[in-house]
Order: sequence, then C-alpha cells, then structure tokens
Amino acid sequence: MCSLACPLGQAKTGLCFCYLCSNKQINIMNHSHYFCPVCGFRGLNEVPYDEHGSPSYEICPCCGFEFGFEGPREHAQFREDWLRKGAPWFMPEAKPADWDLQKQLAGLNIKE
Ligand SMILES: [Zn+2]
Repeated sequence: MCSLACPLGQAKTGLCFCYLCSNKQINIMNHSHYFCPVCGFRGLNEVPYDEHGSPSYEICPCCGFEFGFEGPREHAQFREDWLRKGAPWFMPEAKPADWDLQKQLAGLNIKE
C-alpha cells in the first residue's frame, strides 16, 4: 500500500519515511488521501484545499501545479497543457519506478 504515498518506496509498513513526508512518520492511511486534483498523483504532504477553500501552496511533485496560485477552475486547463507537454515530472526524483500515467489519471475520475 505504500507505493501510493511513497514514490521512493522507502516506506515501512504503516508508516512513511519517504522524502515527500519530510521524514515525519505519517500514517499512510491518512496520508494517501492527499491527491493532486490536477494530475491525480497521490502523495501530497497536505490537503490541497482545506474545508474553507484555503490552498496549501504546496507544489505537486508530479505535474508542478502550485495550489493557491490558480483557481480550481483552471485545473483542467493546466492538466491539458501538462499532458500536451508529455506529462513531465516536476520533481523527477520523486517519480516511482512503476509510475503509470493512465492509472493515475483514471483515479481522478475526470468528467470532461
Ligand atoms: Zn499534480
């Protein structure tokens, strides 16, 4: 189950020690909920937008989207541009060896 949240594959059972977690011990079950609404990557440190709609200002290591600098309505446009560029990783060192773009996008449930 760690492959979702720990792109470097350094997680121990139930706890994540990977670089995305800043060496904090985070329960994978909670951690893996933080996925990028633009590219579908699961492994963000913080929820992109909290219950009040306040952005985290975190940059997605996958698509490079920075939450807070563009409105939620622009997610689709950013995704389109990112895919047109060939879906490059913003932080290539965080890319899992078995990364599958189609699988990640499928988890997004895009209705467009
Ligand atoms: Zn992303």
